[in-house]
Amino acid sequence: MATFVPFITRLDTAFWSTVNKKSFTIGSLTNLRSQLQHNDTVGSECSLSLNHESFNSIENSKDLTISGSLLLFNTAEGFKAAATAENKQKLLEAEALKIWNAITSHSWLQNPKLLSTFSIISFADLKKFKYYSLTCVPAFVYPKDIEQEINTVSNYNLDDASLLSYHKKTSSPVFLFSKKSSTILEIFDLKNQSSPDDVVIVIADPSPVPNTAGWVVRNVLAAVAHLHPSWRHCHVISLRSSGSVGIKFKWALPDEQNELTVPKAVGWDKTPYSVNLRDELDPVKLMDKSVNLNVSLIKWRLHPDIKLERYSELKVLIFGAGTLGCNIARSLSGWGIKHFSFVDNSTVSYSNPVRQSLCEFEDARLERGKAETAAAALKRSYPSIQANAYKLTVPMPGHTIDEKDEAELEKDVKKIETLVKEHDVVFLALDSREARWLPTVLATKHRKIAISVAIGFDTYVVIRHGIGLRKDSVPHESTSEAVPYSQLSCYFCSDVTAPGNSTVDRTLDQQCTVSRPGTSFIASGNACELIASVLQYPDPLQTPASPDDNTTMLGSVPHQIRGFLSKFQQILPIVKRFERCVGCGDAIAQQYQQNGWKFVRDVMNSSSKLEKVSGLDELQDSVNAIDIDFEEDDEE
Ligand SMILES: [Zn+2]
Repeated sequence: MATFVPFITRLDTAFWSTVNKKSFTIGSLTNLRSQLQHNDTVGSECSLSLNHESFNSIENSKDLTISGSLLLFNTAEGFKAAATAENKQKLLEAEALKIWNAITSHSWLQNPKLLSTFSIISFADLKKFKYYSLTCVPAFVYPKDIEQEINTVSNYNLDDASLLSYHKKTSSPVFLFSKKSSTILEIFDLKNQSSPDDVVIVIADPSPVPNTAGWVVRNVLAAVAHLHPSWRHCHVISLRSSGSVGIKFKWALPDEQNELTVPKAVGWDKTPYSVNLRDELDPVKLMDKSVNLNVSLIKWRLHPDIKLERYSELKVLIFGAGTLGCNIARSLSGWGIKHFSFVDNSTVSYSNPVRQSLCEFEDARLERGKAETAAAALKRSYPSIQANAYKLTVPMPGHTIDEKDEAELEKDVKKIETLVKEHDVVFLALDSREARWLPTVLATKHRKIAISVAIGFDTYVVIRHGIGLRKDSVPHESTSEAVPYSQLSCYFCSDVTAPGNSTVDRTLDQQCTVSRPGTSFIASGNACELIASVLQYPDPLQTPASPDDNTTMLGSVPHQIRGFLSKFQQILPIVKRFERCVGCGDAIAQQYQQNGWKFVRDVMNSSSKLEKVSGLDELQDSVNAIDIDFEEDDEE
C-alpha cells in the first residue's frame, strides 16, 4: 500500500507579526500562499511554511507555491466554534469540491496548481501574543488501494537535471515526459495519451522522505484516474533537487464514481498548533531586549567586567522633578536604570516644557504635578521602568511653619525619611539651597549615596556627599590627593552660614534666576555619569575621590564637578568634610536622631538653630572662607 507524506504547517514569527500589524477582517478569508521546497532531505513531513511574504498576491509568483486561505478569529470562542468536527468537515468538503471541479472540468490541465490548496483556521490572542491554528490540506482518497513500486529514475531513460531546469523555468508543478519522443510535454498533453506506459508524470514534490511521495501527489493521481478511467497505473517522477524518485503507482478498479459525487477527502491536522511569541512580538519585551543589548554593547566592546546589574537593580530617589530631576532620570535610564521615585510638590508651568525633557504643553495646561508628570513620561518612554511620584513638601530651614500645619509636616518628614531608606541613591535636584538640607541630613543618617546638582546662570556644580563612618577627625580643606568617601564634603560643608529663606529680600529676577538652557543638561549628564562611575567601584560606598584615571574601569571618580559655561571650563575639586557642617555634621545628625521631626520644625522656624547646634556660630567670626556661591535652579 502506498503512503503519502503529510504536510506540517510552519508559521514563523514574521507571519504572526504581520497578523498583529495588519488589520484582518475577523472570520472572513484572507488569501495566502506558501512556497514549497523540494530540496528538503530532513524530517518526516512536507513543510508548509508561511511567513510575512505569504500575504502577498500570488499572481506574479514564479516560485513553486501552493495557495490557500486563513480564517482568523480574535476570540477563543470563535476559534472553537470554527474548529468543531462538523465545521471542519464542512470546510474540508467545500475546499475538496473546488478541487474536484477543477478535475472534472479539466481546468487542472491548464493550471495544475488548482489541485493543491490549504486552509488555516486560527485564533490570535493579539494582546498576549499567543496563537493557535489548525491546517487542512485536502487530498482525495481516490482511487482507492493505491500501491507503489519504486523505480530508479534511469529506468525511465531521462535526465533529472533537465527536468529540474524545465521546472525552474516554468514553475509548473506537474508536467510530462514522453517516453516515446524523449521530450518534455505540458501536462495538457496527458489528455491525448492512450497508454499510461507512454508517459511519465513529473510532479514537483516537497517530500523529504526517500521513496515516499508527498501529499500533493494524491490529488494528481485522482485527476489522472478521473481523466483516464481505463488506466490502472501510471508512472510518476517525484521531482526533488536532492535526487528524484521514480514510482509506478497502481490501483484497482475505481469504485463506481458518479460525476456528481465528490470522492471522500482527508487533510486536517490532528491537533492544533500553538505558539507563544511574547518574547518575540511584545513591543515591551522587544524594547527590553534592545535596551539591554545597547547597554551590553559597553560590556562586550569596551569593558567586559563592567557590572551592569548594579544599574538595572539600582533604586533612585530624585528630590525635584524640574529641569535637573527630569534630565537626570532621562540620562540614567540610558544606563538601564529602571527604578525611579520623584519627590516634588509643584506643578508644571508654561515655562517648563521647553527646558524639561519629561513634560509637555498639555501638562502645563492641565497644571499637572511635576513628579507625576515626570514619572508618567518616563514610563511612556520605556514601559518597563518603575517610576513613582510623591507630591510632598520638603521642609526648609527658615521657612516658618504654622502650628496647625505641624501634624502634616510630621507625616511628610516621616514619609521622606522612609523614601530615603528605601532607595540606594538620592539626587538633590531641588530649586533652592535650603530645600537640600533635610535630604542631606537623611542621606547622611542612612548612609546613602547622595549627589547634589545645582545650576546658576552659566555655572553648575555636581557634588557627591561624603558617606560612611564619621569617626575620624578630618581637617576641612581642598586637596589634590585621593580622599576616602567618608571624608568628602557635602553640599553645605563649605558654607559659613546656615541655609535660610533665600526668597526673602530678593527681587523677582533673583528669585526666578534664569540659566543658559544647556546648563541643566550638562550638569545632569555629569551627575548621571558620576553615579555610573561610582557604581563600578568594587564597593561603591567606599569609592574614594581621586584624580587617578584608574579608580574604576570607567576612569576617575571626582568628588565635585564645577563648570563655567562662560569659558566652557570644568574643574574637579576635592574638598574634605567640615565637622561643624550644618548638613552632614555629627551634631546635626545627633540632634535629628534624638528629636526627629521636632528638630526639623525648630530649624524651619529659625535657621540660626542650625548654627547653634553645629557650633558654626562660634566659628563665624574667625572663618574667612571664600564661598563659591551658586545660583539655584529656577523652578518658581
Ligand atoms: Zn557637610
